[in-house]
Amino acid sequence: MLSNPVKTQQRPHRGGRGRCASCEHPDQKLINEGLAAGKSLLSLSKRFHITRSSLKHHRAHLSESLVAIQTAAGAEGIVEQLQDLVRRARRFLDSAELSGNSAQGLTAIRELRESLLVLGRVTGELTPAPVVVDLATMPAFIAMRTKMVRALAAFPEARLAIVAVLDVDDA
Ligand SMILES: [Zn+2]
Repeated sequence: MLSNPVKTQQRPHRGGRGRCASCEHPDQKLINEGLAAGKSLLSLSKRFHITRSSLKHHRAHLSESLVAIQTAAGAEGIVEQLQDLVRRARRFLDSAELSGNSAQGLTAIRELRESLLVLGRVTGELTPAPVVVDLATMPAFIAMRTKMVRALAAFPEARLAIVAVLDVDDA
């Protein structure tokens, strides 16, 4: 388990005078929940006795605070549970292989794969593959390319140069 999220409160925040009344407030969690829920600064200011400008300033710390709280409360638990699922699925797969139960084996493989994928995403080992855009196959690009080549009809040399560069049929 990670250290207590309260620790983040002691870290000085950028801006202001290095202190944040909201971050150091004993009800920080409730303040964050209020801000995250979109409660008005006025109502939060009254409820927690913090100035509105301080609350406004604290908004910038909100994600950091929430991340710290969520990490401490849940993320590690999730990873542990996923790892447990992976172990179980492996055992399931082993027993399926031993008994020759292919249906059970396939189910186990599916579960294992699913758990590993989620685990990989959670731990960051699996980052989504970058999206590759193939410009040459995009209709808008093809249309533009055709127009360019046509527009250069009166300039044969330029046209040939463009045709060569754009790898377009010399139609
Ligand atoms: Zn703050």
